[in-house]
Amino acid sequence: MFDLIVRHATLPDGRTDIDVAVRGDRIAAVEPHATLAAAAAGREIDAGGLLLSPPFVDAHFHMDATLSLGLPRFNQSGTLLEGIALWGELKPHLRQEALVERALAYCDIAVARGLLAVRSHVDTSDPRLLAVDALLEVKRRVAPYLDLQLVAFPQDGVLRYDPRRDDPSCTLSALQLLEKALDKGVDVVGGIPHFERTMADGLESVRLLCELAASRGLRVDMHCDESDDPLSRHVETLALHARRLGLQGRVTGSHLTSMHSMDNYYVSKLIPLIAEAGLSAIANPLINITLQGRHDTYPKRRGMTRVPELMAAGVPVAFGHDCVMDPWYPMGSGDMLEVASMALHVAQMTGRAAMRACYDAVTGTPARILGLEGYGLAPGCFADLVLLQARDPIEAIRLRPARLAVLRRGRVVSEQPPATAALRLDGRPARVDFLHRR
Ligand SMILES: [Zn+2]
Repeated sequence: MFDLIVRHATLPDGRTDIDVAVRGDRIAAVEPHATLAAAAAGREIDAGGLLLSPPFVDAHFHMDATLSLGLPRFNQSGTLLEGIALWGELKPHLRQEALVERALAYCDIAVARGLLAVRSHVDTSDPRLLAVDALLEVKRRVAPYLDLQLVAFPQDGVLRYDPRRDDPSCTLSALQLLEKALDKGVDVVGGIPHFERTMADGLESVRLLCELAASRGLRVDMHCDESDDPLSRHVETLALHARRLGLQGRVTGSHLTSMHSMDNYYVSKLIPLIAEAGLSAIANPLINITLQGRHDTYPKRRGMTRVPELMAAGVPVAFGHDCVMDPWYPMGSGDMLEVASMALHVAQMTGRAAMRACYDAVTGTPARILGLEGYGLAPGCFADLVLLQARDPIEAIRLRPARLAVLRRGRVVSEQPPATAALRLDGRPARVDFLHRR
């Protein structure tokens, strides 16, 4: 006897007519329907041949800023730097309760989208560490339904920011503030080398932060070279220290947009260094296509890092949402399939395997980058599942369809009716559900 069986599912790897049985909070069996046809369960869900997937994972987000669009004003230039300045204007006015409420509201949307794990950066450039306390509270409150992993992110630069600017009585340095955030329970060490005053300071910040992570046994995820500067060299430095400190597999470079603008000769040296150091990469296609190339005339650069080339070198590449309705980005919907769709288009990844890789980049690959335990669609994994109104991962990216059911630890936490339209056309079907009939 099982607690629940999802019957007649198609899995992301292409297997069809599969039954997935759940006992307690774990997947107990994944078998062809014929094998489990006679098995009984407390509840059954008929997938009807539709796609049953592990949940979406967002490897890069800013939950402390989300849903703050228009506070205290809008970003007029649309640039990264005006966004950072705007966030600086907003910070003194932030209140913990409002920040918690906005983050919880975003997590509601995330769950309804089947997004059940998020790595969020949290700004530590604040003597009060207000956002840190708020997101630690959010992490505790959403834990039953969403894994929230936090990155200590020195938004204003770990060397550039002087906390006495905001509080003349503060005796801590920006680095000590970041360490205090880690002491409070933040999981990962972040950084922003391209925002330090000089390239030398940026390189020094990478060294300091990687050594801090190594000394505490933590992972690293740096905003690294989120710029259009082809001469930025922080990525090779991140790879150097990851290798030197034995952090292979635990260090991530986020954005890496400078790689879009670098010349091919230098990149032919850099990508093998990234692979050798066991780095993973996170592109943020919605934001990169929006913020990068803002100073260009035509032709305008796309700005997203070299996703297919990194994948071809064996580097794990995930896609992040980065922002939803905040000082940097006025759009966004919490839908990782929108993120995958934008990446697919920007990177021109329209081959069959490439499109499936775009699906992996918002599911299994970020799960590995975050180090999520029990993620996947196999016996023994947590029963965290999403039933989509699509027949396979490629159709899911194309349609960004309804999440018919979202399960967390074996319990249905969100349901959505299928999207259909009633047609009033002579001689044509009465209804369309948008699926492609082969
Ligand atoms: Zn970011």
